[in-house]
Amino acid sequence: MANNTKFIFVTGGVTSSLGKGILAASLAKLIQARGYSVTIQKLDPYLNVDPGTLNPYEHGECFVTDDGAETDLDLGHYERFLNVPTSQANNVTTGRIYQSVINKERKGDYLGKTVQIIPHITDEIKRCIMLLGKKGEYDVVVTEIGGVVGDIESLPFIEAVRQLKWELGSNALCIHLTLVPYLAAAGEIKTKPTQHSVKKLLEIGVQPDVLVLRTEHELNNSIRQKVALFCNVGKNAVFESPDLPSIYEVPLSFQKQGFDEVVMSKLGLDLKQEPALDAWKDKLNRLYNLSEVVKIAVVGKYVELPDAYKSIHEALNHAGMVNNVKLDIEWVHSEKVNEQNVASILGDKKAILVAPGFGNRGIDGKIIATRYARENNIPFFGICLGMQCAVIEFARNVLGLPDANSSEFCTTPNPVIDIMEQQKSITNMGHTMRLGAYPCHILDKDSNAFRAYGSDEIYERHRHRYELNNNYLADMESKGMVAVGKNPDSDLVEIVEIKGHKWFVGVQFHPEYKSRFEKPHPLFVAFIKAAIE
Ligand code: GLN
Repeated sequence: MANNTKFIFVTGGVTSSLGKGILAASLAKLIQARGYSVTIQKLDPYLNVDPGTLNPYEHGECFVTDDGAETDLDLGHYERFLNVPTSQANNVTTGRIYQSVINKERKGDYLGKTVQIIPHITDEIKRCIMLLGKKGEYDVVVTEIGGVVGDIESLPFIEAVRQLKWELGSNALCIHLTLVPYLAAAGEIKTKPTQHSVKKLLEIGVQPDVLVLRTEHELNNSIRQKVALFCNVGKNAVFESPDLPSIYEVPLSFQKQGFDEVVMSKLGLDLKQEPALDAWKDKLNRLYNLSEVVKIAVVGKYVELPDAYKSIHEALNHAGMVNNVKLDIEWVHSEKVNEQNVASILGDKKAILVAPGFGNRGIDGKIIATRYARENNIPFFGICLGMQCAVIEFARNVLGLPDANSSEFCTTPNPVIDIMEQQKSITNMGHTMRLGAYPCHILDKDSNAFRAYGSDEIYERHRHRYELNNNYLADMESKGMVAVGKNPDSDLVEIVEIKGHKWFVGVQFHPEYKSRFEKPHPLFVAFIKAAIE
């Protein structure tokens, strides 16, 4: 147990999308592998209270934690790398900070004082950072500051980092990740943007202790020397973050450079042991040596956005690795699938996954793809809305209810998917869905789900407002679509399967949130296994 928690801040400069999340997760992995308990937190400088109300086009996937927090997708990386669950405390936005300060102001907690960015907003930010340390659970808290240094929005967060670095002294450290672009015409790596970015940090009073340079070309000594000289850091505290074939190689690349050793010794942390990464390395070797290629399809409406289905993509890759196959995933746009082209799009696929989602757009294509999988005995995995599509399709084409639909999309005499009772009175959209981990009992031991989990009691994370309408269940079951898993308290159907089909599983929950590099999710593993059998 920790009594002297260390705080590591990760800031970003020059551009966004440099991989601060992967850097934070990789460093945390290396420290964890030396025998410390570590958690990672993301501070997001936007005004939404959480990303739950954000469209994936704005911010990629919304990741959900056990405690039902709707969070930034970087938390998915943190969990996949560390194999430790995160919670609401691990993701804080400007909106949440302001909401809490304004609520306190309305309650009169500030006793007549003028409420200001400094100290009230910065104090609230500091409270949220220190909270993770206070629990006494963690030796090290890594806090990633979203956005780019120099943005107006991130100023209060950086100011909070300045104050904490001052207060915590050698128990805190700042790592700044920047870009060193390569100019092909000059044949040179340029350090000026990094120098300016560090100056921006210095203007606010933060001296980074360690610099990580994102680069497409290997750094030579003179570049390191130059950056160190201009940015007041030791030459041994300048590291590179090159492009790598897999994000799971990033911790190893940092370890080779001695990154964890430098960071830990600056914090006065005993190195204890060599990082225990043998299992990690084995997995990576396996990932790099997959030979057989298996074609599968993911049908969704955000497929042009790589970040929209991040956790599903990772979970599929983890499952491919376990099954020793490389997945060739075709991301099929559900709006482009119709009766005429479905066979040409999906005919060569060994498995079909229908993705989660909200709203009517692209539903027809998802239903057509689901029917194709059912009728052609192709392994099918429907997640959340994907499961609901499977139920609608089955009701329409097997039960003979052509108007069967979800009441999310229209008013119909046959709402086979209907709004949950508790959702009917809800007017606010933010954080009001059925969210987070709930138990599910697997009722049927002769099911794909039971065979995959090897247990009849599971916990999975949810994010939905609609449910399978139990009024149709008896009919569905008599025709072969069976509710093999239910919530023991509410009777909500959590898993449906089609008997006699090669592998047809629909889940109301989101298993993808719980797949880890070192512990791939059993349902994804079973799905890919069915694809190659
Ligand atoms: N839109 C559906 C619901 O709210 C499914 C949600 C999802 O796929 N996450 O129930």
